Amino acid sequence: MAKIKLEYIWLDGYQPVANLRSKTKIIDGEYGSLKLADLPVWGFDGSSTRQAEGKSSDCLLKPVALYPDCTRTNAYLVMSEVLLPNGQPHPTNSRATIPDDEGTWFGFEQEYFFFKNGKPLGFPDDGFPAPQGPYYTGVGYSNVGSIARELTEKHIDICLAAGINIEGINAEVAKGQWEFQIFGKGSKSAADQMWVARYILVRLCEAYGVDVEFHCKPIRGVYNAPLDWNGSGMHSNFSTKHMREVGGKDYFDRLMAAFSKYMDEHIAVYGPENHLRLTGLHETQSIDKFSFGVADRGASVRVPHSFINSGYKGYLEDRRPNSAADPYLVAGRILKTILTVPTK
Ligand code: ADP
Ligand code: MN
Ligand code: MN
Ligand code: MN
Repeated sequence: MAKIKLEYIWLDGYQPVANLRSKTKIIDGEYGSLKLADLPVWGFDGSSTRQAEGKSSDCLLKPVALYPDCTRTNAYLVMSEVLLPNGQPHPTNSRATIPDDEGTWFGFEQEYFFFKNGKPLGFPDDGFPAPQGPYYTGVGYSNVGSIARELTEKHIDICLAAGINIEGINAEVAKGQWEFQIFGKGSKSAADQMWVARYILVRLCEAYGVDVEFHCKPIRGVYNAPLDWNGSGMHSNFSTKHMREVGGKDYFDRLMAAFSKYMDEHIAVYGPENHLRLTGLHETQSIDKFSFGVADRGASVRVPHSFINSGYKGYLEDRRPNSAADPYLVAGRILKTILTVPTK
């Protein structure tokens, strides 16, 4: 028997973007043989997270995914859903709104900025760094600074040890901006992994005095700069079993018609202040237009060459979700739209 540390992680009730919250529960058990089904439902004070009134403040935490945490001894990260005291999903529980769909795969590309002392990491105390150009996939102190590499390397290792399917990282176009990619089979699983990968990164940065800024246009929207700098997205690549195995041009045309019809419903859950980012510049389509195009990074939905070459089969990339979007809401909305489209 060992003392096992369970870090229960959940999303709070803040709007428009939920914050990650977590707290530790110690249980007695056999480390290594613990299963999700063994984990107790737990609770927290919802009046401190904008999820309940003070008079009746209890909310429940239902474990939904379990990941080993190599940063502590005998520890796990426990992704949890928030339930009302009666066991029903809490209104803030975006995960519970995703339709069941074993066959859907999601690949999320998470862009973000490291921030220190209120500015992107590597920005000088006064003024601004050299304009964008050398930073994307850059190497060298003047391009990536002295901390970001260590942080992103550690992030990969902790995610891999947790069994999270992180696919890669790269330095991005703006100074202090980075990306990682997560791929998962099953919408809930993919989005769970994305939230836990965010959690791992945000927690890792604490000791470095660094914050992770998920705002989609932080240099313009939060921190004023004279030059225009890139924003951050969370491109969402998706495929259903039908898209991978049957597909076809007729189905694709119906799918894109549905995406066009539900444009506003998609934008509503694709992250706050997306109008600052979806301007039609910087490889984006403007927020009030829906378009798709082969290999077109200025379209709302990019159709990979491989999709056309294999007879309209495979995955599509929705480029509109932003870096602060909730992957549960994004995956749920994409699935809801897909489910309106007849397969024949
Ligand atoms: P880019 O930056 O060119 O848009 P990336 O390589 O960063 O492309 O991301 C491509 C994403 O597509 C990855 O996250 C990958 O997991 C995802 N992907 C690949 N195949 C599929 C598929 N069949 N279904 C869903 N997502 C997929
Ligand atoms: Mn990418
Ligand atoms: Mn990118
Ligand atoms: Mn992309």
